[in-house]
Amino acid sequence: MKLILLGAPGAGKGTQAELICEKLGIPQVSTGNIIRSEIKSGTELGLRVKSIVESGALVPDSLVIELLKNRIAQDDCKNGFLLDGFPRTIPQAEALEGICAVDAVVEIHVPDTAIVNRMSGRRTCPTCGATFHVTNKPPKKEGVCDVCGAALIVRPDDDPEVVRGRLKVYHEQTEPLIAFYRERGLLKTVDGQLPLADVAAAIYEALGIR
Ligand code: AMP
Repeated sequence: MKLILLGAPGAGKGTQAELICEKLGIPQVSTGNIIRSEIKSGTELGLRVKSIVESGALVPDSLVIELLKNRIAQDDCKNGFLLDGFPRTIPQAEALEGICAVDAVVEIHVPDTAIVNRMSGRRTCPTCGATFHVTNKPPKKEGVCDVCGAALIVRPDDDPEVVRGRLKVYHEQTEPLIAFYRERGLLKTVDGQLPLADVAAAIYEALGIR
């Protein structure tokens, strides 16, 4: 199954992506994680985009499309994948249509005010990319990644001021994708304010998986 998860930053895409991928046995392809790993490794690309990402703006389409194309050409994506954080613009969605057909697009809908509250509690593992939340999804040991044991951090782009800027970017550049995929009959919308397990259940139902 080839899936896209849409939603504002902080809507819970990463968390739901992990659950869906585990259930379906497909890889989670997060362009945000790929970009952060380039930045962390200090690659030429990483150095070019570091300040853009930290400001909350989007990385240029051509660059992200290339990264995505290379990632989904890898062997583990042969039987499907879940895209988390891609596409983020209409040109990215159009480019994706030229690469492969997707089976469904799930939009996790959460109002802006709830998102700003949520993101201030988000903690991310800088080593493996796993995400936690101080109240909604706390790690077993405070400040420590359950998956790999690294110390958790607050991503610079999760700062409340930056979050408001990222929401603006979302509304201007990414929200038009909802109409784009609705017109193609691919869109399923779920309420992202439900408890985590209920959001997951709503997604499985929308996708017809048990
Ligand atoms: P995310 O982890 O998906 O919230 O992404 C973090 C940051 O990486 C975004 O704020 C952008 O700067 C950049 N990024 C990730 N995915 C994309 C994309 N598809 N297009 C442009 N920029 C992206």
